[in-house]
Amino acid sequence: MIKIAGLSKSFGSLEVLRSVDLEVRRGEVVCVIGPSGSGKSTLLRCVNLLEEPSAGRVEVDGVELTDPDADLDSARRHIGMVFQQFNLFSHLTVGQNLTVAQRKVLKRRGPEALEVARSNLERVGLADKIDAMPSQLSGGQQQRVAIARALAMNPHVMLFDEPTSALDPELVGDVLGVMRGLADEGMTMLVVTHEMQFAREVADRVLFMDGGGIVEQGTPAEVIGDPKQERTRTFLARVL
Ligand code: ATP
Ligand code: MG
Repeated sequence: MIKIAGLSKSFGSLEVLRSVDLEVRRGEVVCVIGPSGSGKSTLLRCVNLLEEPSAGRVEVDGVELTDPDADLDSARRHIGMVFQQFNLFSHLTVGQNLTVAQRKVLKRRGPEALEVARSNLERVGLADKIDAMPSQLSGGQQQRVAIARALAMNPHVMLFDEPTSALDPELVGDVLGVMRGLADEGMTMLVVTHEMQFAREVADRVLFMDGGGIVEQGTPAEVIGDPKQERTRTFLARVL
């Protein structure tokens, strides 16, 4: 589903990703862990070319996004992304937040877009908030709306960049619960997270990144439970 080969990214003289190879299979949940500045967000942003790689190849769903002739808009339609900051449109209702891209990008008509919005809000447990403004919701609810908004576009892949890091601790569980549900439904997911419990229970595979590369990867039991590399052990000792 996602195939990354030889992916490098530099900002000026700063080398942030160093020839990363990564494949994520359909239905697989891959969690990315690692210290601040190791390149996790940059890796995620390169998957949908929000960040342009300096070198290497990125393929999603059989489409090579790094091909200069690729139709990026069309490829990105199938890649949902959820950030630490929810980025909802504050002047639009929850329902409008979910319908605007469906109408503009997918050309869905109003009633259909609204129906899709409703069913995806139901999926994240917020059907009753369709007419609320984002400011009337808790952070956890806003993040679930952001997830529902991504889902309304029928993504084939979901990218999550620390979706719970900005939330009060008591709100984290609801968001992780929604993500767990998605994983159970077979969604292909690449998740940058500091939630080790989530990674342990939900990930098929865990990647530990440091210094712009994948230092170690394997099942959660291998990487979190029995890390082989010293750098992984040092990192885990700090976060566990
Ligand atoms: P965190 O856990 O803090 O989110 P991260 O692993 O996601 O860290 P990145 O955000 O990918 O790390 O950043 C990796 C490095 O690239 C950092 O040194 C960062 O300062 C640098 N960097 C990221 N984006 C840019 C940019 N647009 N311009 C210049 N440097 C950048
Ligand atoms: Mg980051």
